[in-house]
Amino acid sequence: MKKNIPYGRQWIDETDIRAVEKVLRSDWLTQGPKIEEFEKKVAKYCNAKYAVAFSSGTSALLGAYYAIGLEKGDEVVTTPLTFAATSNAAVYFGAKPVFADIKEDTLNIDPSEINKKIGRKTKAVVCVDFAGNPCDYENILKISRKNKVYLIEDASHAIGAEYKGKKIGSIADITVFSFHPVKHITTGEGGMVLTDKREFYERMKMFRSHGIIKNLEKGGWYYEIKELSFNFRITDIQCALGISQLKKLDKFIEKRRKIAEKYKKAFLGSDKIILSRQEQGAKSAFHIFPIQVLGNRRKAFDDFKKAGLGVQVHYMPLNLHPFYMKKFGYKKGDFPNAEKYYERAITIPLFPKMTADEINYVIETVKKINV
Ligand SMILES: *Cc1c(COP(=O)(O)O)cnc(C)c1O
Repeated sequence: MKKNIPYGRQWIDETDIRAVEKVLRSDWLTQGPKIEEFEKKVAKYCNAKYAVAFSSGTSALLGAYYAIGLEKGDEVVTTPLTFAATSNAAVYFGAKPVFADIKEDTLNIDPSEINKKIGRKTKAVVCVDFAGNPCDYENILKISRKNKVYLIEDASHAIGAEYKGKKIGSIADITVFSFHPVKHITTGEGGMVLTDKREFYERMKMFRSHGIIKNLEKGGWYYEIKELSFNFRITDIQCALGISQLKKLDKFIEKRRKIAEKYKKAFLGSDKIILSRQEQGAKSAFHIFPIQVLGNRRKAFDDFKKAGLGVQVHYMPLNLHPFYMKKFGYKKGDFPNAEKYYERAITIPLFPKMTADEINYVIETVKKINV
């Protein structure tokens, strides 16, 4: 039988289904008690004070940028090697994304490049824990504090990861998660923002739902629109799934780490494949497993596809997208490390539900690489 192993996928079991079913039979499909319950549980898991759940990781990022008051004329310093939402959400507020190249070995934003790009207009440094591997926060925090800018962490790849003994979610001023089905835990679509700052928390709650503020002193019905915003709410149906998934997060990550260990062992010493390295003191959550192919990447990608591996490439650097070229004048060659990585990159399958057979098949297929 022809194999078909995706690069990532969710793991939904009967307890998840029952949790969702229970909400469907309850009074609240949305704006009910499951939302705060999910927020509190994720905040506790990550050692953060406050959490606001959103309809997606992208709307959560918008919430984070809204919280810090990002506006036209501001800049954010961020990595070119990310899903576009990290940067698009800042552009939406009229800010300019100023990219800082990655480190060749860890694929995360390079603190010394941040230092070069940070300036008077910078409002935040926005880090992405690429593939689940936490960034060099020791140095990045020093830089953000010295320059008095916020540190925002797009941890869409990294819920459950750790840096120097601290859980992701307890390091940056604001941390963002996504619960898309390829991420560690899922709500279908969904996202969350964590912070210790009460002011940010309140701004994001308002931003999530039409800029509305309630005031019971003026009457049970009373609300006012304080700012223009959208409906970025998540539902109780989704949060019930999230709560149920969260219970399994540690087990999922354990499985991801074991598979990653097997891959590393199997590919060690290969003259065709380069693996990236973790940051010092970081414990990755292994969202994806990107390899770099020495040789014809296009052919390797097509060969893997033919063999039934649902490979992907994460990501084409943002400076190479037409929108970023046209709007901000970025061009090919601006970020040599990110671009060199992109030319060689292939993400191979990694998800907790993989069977031993599937893992071995991926290893054998990748080892046979002939390009
Ligand atoms: C998945 C992802 C997002 C966006 O999340 P959605 O839930 O799909 O909106 C943002 N940034 C990164 C790095 C991601 O991987």
